Amino acid sequence: MASVNRHFLELQRTYLFTEIARKVKAYQKANPGRRVISLGIGDVTRPLVPAVIAALHKAVEEMGHAATFHGYGPEQGYPFLREAIAAYDYTAHGLDVSSDEIFISDGAKSDLGNFQELFSQDSVVAVMDPVYPVYVDSNVMAGRAGEYQNARWQRLVYLPCTRENAFVPDFPETRPDIIYICSPNNPTGMALSRHALQEWVDYARHHGCVILYDSAYEAFITDQGIPHSIYEIEGAREVAVEFRSFSKTAGFTGLRCAYTVVPRDVTAVDGKGGRVPLRELWNRRQTTKYNGCPYIVQRAAESVYTPEGRVQVMADVEACHENARRIVDALQQMGLTVFGGVNAPYLWVATPHGMTSWEFFDLLLARAALVCTPGAGFGVAGEGFVRLTAFGTPDDTEEALQRLATVTL
Ligand code: PLP
Repeated sequence: MASVNRHFLELQRTYLFTEIARKVKAYQKANPGRRVISLGIGDVTRPLVPAVIAALHKAVEEMGHAATFHGYGPEQGYPFLREAIAAYDYTAHGLDVSSDEIFISDGAKSDLGNFQELFSQDSVVAVMDPVYPVYVDSNVMAGRAGEYQNARWQRLVYLPCTRENAFVPDFPETRPDIIYICSPNNPTGMALSRHALQEWVDYARHHGCVILYDSAYEAFITDQGIPHSIYEIEGAREVAVEFRSFSKTAGFTGLRCAYTVVPRDVTAVDGKGGRVPLRELWNRRQTTKYNGCPYIVQRAAESVYTPEGRVQVMADVEACHENARRIVDALQQMGLTVFGGVNAPYLWVATPHGMTSWEFFDLLLARAALVCTPGAGFGVAGEGFVRLTAFGTPDDTEEALQRLATVTL
């Protein structure tokens, strides 16, 4: 009999979104006339911008003619997109990233989930708490997380991001091999300053760690002091891999396109005293297991870098910021303390009167038919917070604000 990878059986049930759905269903049954609005939505709601639609149409047309048809493309992505990314996201900002260090994919989720394959099974992994669950579960599947006890995996190193440390993780007591950093952060909406990121890069260089830097929300950064790329930090090319996505930047959650930067200088040891460039291993992994992002999707992503594409996409990001500002105002008027929203589409709201995340969730649902995401679902350090997002439509956001105005705490 074939036996399964037992580590899959160790995975914890994703209780968070099932429990939210169960509570919303129960509320809806008891209040059939009341429309529930989600302020917890993690998907974009705006349609693709005209520049992207035009690029899609053109690419689709090309696929219908023998002379311009595209079959399998390069597993690493087409040069036209890799070069556009290198030029606009890096060279234009004075950063040293070349197009052959950029790997195009169908999403940051897949890349973040897959990248851990490159490391030995006994590697020690550090994650921020609260955490985007992909980092944790992909390492559980690989057998790197140890036993699950008291809501924590015993072999993972947790880096709590709390109000006390202003959501900037302190260095751990145990030295990890791999460090996942998500900035701007999902779920806290906070971003690491240049200084904080420099300290983490220095730490990684000193201790021989690799940083897996998830900046899926880079486009939402508005503060001058926040780096858009980890390669703005001195020494990062030696220790950091950067993950970015067109999902939230350009509404590609359904289209699917992202990229991962693996600089030539990032290496890990081979156990025999040698050093192996991770770029070579990732290239090998991708060419073995992946056949590339669709041509038409890569043409669509390329159009995001055209002058009109950039203006249109940034207008959508700005609309999201506008939503965030209005929601923050409404919450502050209720006397709540709110973090995030300035450099990210996420708001991290401290629950009032010592309520738990779920108690505050229940209150907002019962009193205003509003749905949020309880912070406790993202990790131990998320208790006492709820996450709201600014992705809602203008109409839903407007109605949500009116409802919030009627809630007294
Ligand atoms: N990283 C973070 C922190 C996210 O929140 C998300 C999506 O919600 C992703 C990565 C995944 O992005 P993609 O749609 O490119 O797979």
